[in-house]
Amino acid sequence: MLRLPVFTFLTPKTIDEAIGMMVDAGGDASFVAGGTDLFPNMKRRQQTPRTVISVLSLPELRAVRGNATEGLTLGAGVLLSDLCADPLVTATFPVVARTARLISTPLLRNMSTIGGNLLIDTRCDYYDQTYEWRKSIHFCLKKDGDTCWVAPGSSTCSSWPPRSASRSRSVTTRPARASGTRSNIAYSRSSASTGAANRWSASRPW
Ligand SMILES: Cc1cc2nc3c(=O)[nH]c(=O)nc-3n(C[C@H](O)[C@H](O)[C@H](O)COP(=O)(O)OP(=O)(O)OC[C@H]3O[C@@H](n4cnc5c(N)ncnc54)[C@H](O)[C@@H]3O)c2cc1C
Ligand code: SF4
Repeated sequence: MLRLPVFTFLTPKTIDEAIGMMVDAGGDASFVAGGTDLFPNMKRRQQTPRTVISVLSLPELRAVRGNATEGLTLGAGVLLSDLCADPLVTATFPVVARTARLISTPLLRNMSTIGGNLLIDTRCDYYDQTYEWRKSIHFCLKKDGDTCWVAPGSSTCSSWPPRSASRSRSVTTRPARASGTRSNIAYSRSSASTGAANRWSASRPW
């Protein structure tokens, strides 16, 4: 059984408090929402924050607001299962609810947030392995090693998310272009869209 490392767990009551805790931790910290991505990664020592700051119960992050004309703003802390059933989302942008329903399983959706879904650590077969497995191949460029095993001639990891994508708070769903039958999803920071595109680049099927 893989065990979590020892870490400090903080539960802020507001976004400002959460940001203050992150600043105080001096960079050696990570936010966590549902933990469905971060905690398995910590067990495999892919991510090793000494402080974990929970944003799961911040009410400010649970909001869904907007309308069909101007678009919706989805809080980063909205659970995927809530997104599937949200009356405003299903009435205005049903494709968003339907898409969320396609993610993983009910158990995962009950715990996962949309913010966490956008910011999961990128997948790679040479990286999503236990510490001992990764050590046996001398790790890889993304963490602790100096070779990319997907593209050994490469000096960069094609599974690496842009760092600027890792702090967004909300996703804005803009209204459909012409007919109202299609929608554009724009992330609150423009570079996050690159992150979403990259996320699956060296990935395996779920
Ligand atoms: C078995 C399995 C199957 C899956 N299948 C699919 C699938 O079919 N399709 C798919 O798209 N995904 C899939 N996933 C990914 C899943 O959707 C994500 O694990 C989940 O959405 C992450 O949400 P979370 O709230 O648990 O994130 P966490 O694990 O809590 O966090 C993930 C990352 O996001 C950061 N983060 C979270 N919230 C915030 C915030 N508010 N502000 C700043 N940073 C934040 C954390 O610091 C961490 O780096 C699957 C996962 C598993 C384990
Ligand atoms: S793409 Fe290369 S460097 Fe990135 S995680 Fe995979 S093996 Fe490691």
